[in-house]
Amino acid sequence: MHELPVIESILKVSLSHGAKNNVQKIMAIHLQVGELSDLEDEWMQRYFDHLSKDSIAAGAVLKIERMPVVMNCEDCRESFQVDIKNVKDIVCPLCQGKNNKLISGREYFIKSMEVL
Ligand SMILES: [Zn+2]
Repeated sequence: MHELPVIESILKVSLSHGAKNNVQKIMAIHLQVGELSDLEDEWMQRYFDHLSKDSIAAGAVLKIERMPVVMNCEDCRESFQVDIKNVKDIVCPLCQGKNNKLISGREYFIKSMEVL
């Protein structure tokens, strides 16, 4: 049930953007979601439909794009993408270091909106 607060926040941002731009109706919202995030597309849409039903975003479709996981090596500062099927034993491709920090992979962004 991590989706509900996320969707509340996405809806709030979308509606305030819509209000500022005299939008009649929000048709679709393009989201970028990190591959490590446990947000599920189906639940995101379900919560969205529920929360948006009396707003200009009612019926809008969430178009969700998964973003790669990026880590940064604490030893040599190299940033690199990680295959999520392989998250155990991650080593830096440059120095083989194991002190790697997650930079992105869990976050979400509103990329764009389709409006009328
Ligand atoms: Zn390194």
